[in-house]
Amino acid sequence: MKLLLVNLLNECACEKQYEYLWSFIRERELSSQQRQQLLRWYKRIRRDLPWRQTQDPYRILVSEVMLQQTQVDRVIPFYHRFMETFPNEQALADADITHVHRLWKGLGYPSRAERLQKTCQIITRERDGQWPQTAEGLQELPGIGPYTSAAVACFACGQSVPLVDTNVARVYARRDALPIPLDKKLIWQHAENHLARRSAVAYNNALMELGALVCTARNPTCDECPWKNSCQTLAQNPTETTCEEEFKQTANPMKVASAKVQYGVTISDKKKTRKHIVLALIHHEGKYLIAKRPPSVHMGNYWELPGGKKEKGEDDRIALAREIDEELGAEILSARPFVTFTYEYPEFYLTFHCYRCRLFHPELVQPLAATEIKWVTPEEFMAYEFPPANEAIKQRFQRYHFKK
Ligand code: SF4
Repeated sequence: MKLLLVNLLNECACEKQYEYLWSFIRERELSSQQRQQLLRWYKRIRRDLPWRQTQDPYRILVSEVMLQQTQVDRVIPFYHRFMETFPNEQALADADITHVHRLWKGLGYPSRAERLQKTCQIITRERDGQWPQTAEGLQELPGIGPYTSAAVACFACGQSVPLVDTNVARVYARRDALPIPLDKKLIWQHAENHLARRSAVAYNNALMELGALVCTARNPTCDECPWKNSCQTLAQNPTETTCEEEFKQTANPMKVASAKVQYGVTISDKKKTRKHIVLALIHHEGKYLIAKRPPSVHMGNYWELPGGKKEKGEDDRIALAREIDEELGAEILSARPFVTFTYEYPEFYLTFHCYRCRLFHPELVQPLAATEIKWVTPEEFMAYEFPPANEAIKQRFQRYHFKK
């Protein structure tokens, strides 16, 4: 191929043609160099994760589903326990669902476990134990989207297909300075163009490893990056401040900015510390759950949404799952971003991350941390008095329900 391109270059009829072909060859060379750099780096640092030692589609699918919204270190013990109890698709297909839920408890989103079981039932009862071998075929199974299907097709079936999760999107967005928010089609096409076809398994693993360990959302350690010499973000942002700003913009490059309205204050004093709170706007059959603060605490007797402080390094949804378990004894079925805003106190900023949630068993909630809990209609919700820091929730709720 290279020889063919060089011959074509020699035969170019005009300067424009020559330049076009020359830049194509250069890009191709750069991309191939970058792939080799990444693969060499991966060989050196690769983590020995349990699901990397198998090509069993069942085990790979279980690991991929567990890894959705949950960090690797946390998933490993769950994965081992799950595999000891349900070592194959037949065992999971035949299991009592309450047993499956018990083993899943702590990972959150039990509906994911239910869909896994459903998939195993289809494979064992309708497909004679045969898994589809392509990403398209896998997407016909319950709960398997573009990323998971590509992961199983690549890691289990050896298909040379690209993978794009948040980590991969962030790495490419930064390395190649792609426009933010990323267009889904564009990033999948980009990943396809840059894939190392003959080493797709290692390349895809390496990319995800790079996003998880080096090109992280908040503090990328560019000195350790195999692509530091060709990274466009570093090249275009020579100062630390502009680089930091760019890292913030690209932390979650797939996220489309949905709110057209700005809620809360803008952070202006960089010396003040910032704390993060997660809140659950739980809804069920047209009503919302609110909780009354105990009289002895700050802002006692105010009504509020359940939730609490995020722990250091904790993912929003993990923090939500933990808080809702502690405060209501309930498990979250789904959580979608509703509003994020910041409130300024004299000594610090509080950033609230509020998610619109559904519970697995809403009828079983208990007031474990509040003096009282209530299900209220949207109109009643607007009439309750929340602490002033939560005013932005009311504003967003008003727009959401009453479009004013
Ligand atoms: S050099 Fe830094 S920003 Fe660029 S890809 Fe590597 S870790 Fe990410």
